[in-house]
Amino acid sequence: MEIADLVASKVLDVPDFPKPGVLFKDLMPLFADGPAFAAAIDAIIAEQGADSFDVVAGIEARGFVIAAAVAYATGKGVVPIRKAGKLPRKTVAATYALEYGEATLEVHADAFIAGERVLVVDDVLATGGTAAATLGLVEEAGGTVSGFSVLLELAFLEGRAKLAGRPIHALLTV
Ligand code: AMP
Repeated sequence: MEIADLVASKVLDVPDFPKPGVLFKDLMPLFADGPAFAAAIDAIIAEQGADSFDVVAGIEARGFVIAAAVAYATGKGVVPIRKAGKLPRKTVAATYALEYGEATLEVHADAFIAGERVLVVDDVLATGGTAAATLGLVEEAGGTVSGFSVLLELAFLEGRAKLAGRPIHALLTV
């Protein structure tokens, strides 16, 4: 089966979550299926190229699952991109607008070696606000974003436009 079809077969649409009007794309069935999860991780690595990055950054919380698997399969490390107030040492932070209100993400200030190539992963690319904030954070902390991978991209929200110039791969685009 094509990887896009496989991901499509393992995503559940949940209307009006977490608030009215949002169609939530629940990828837990993909995470829960061993062969499907392995195929998704392998596809991310094949699309980006295992030699194109030195470390994998996962965005809290579903991005952690993907990041850990990609990192293990390629022999690289993981850096968590966390919600505000979770990291114990000095951080760099980025605050960005959500549809209602704002959110802050943080990474440890010493998380990257200068110039280290960082693959950023998450489950869903929607408006791109989270991804763009993460790219800014990684680079402020000294890393270089080599690419961005998601399981699923919501193309109509045009998040890709906020990440101009980076290799962006989505296993499934809807
Ligand atoms: P955005 O900043 O709008 O690109 O939103 C991306 C972040 O929010 C990712 O961490 C996703 O996990 C989550 N997200 C946004 N919209 C959805 C959606 N429709 N279904 C599932 N997750 C979403």
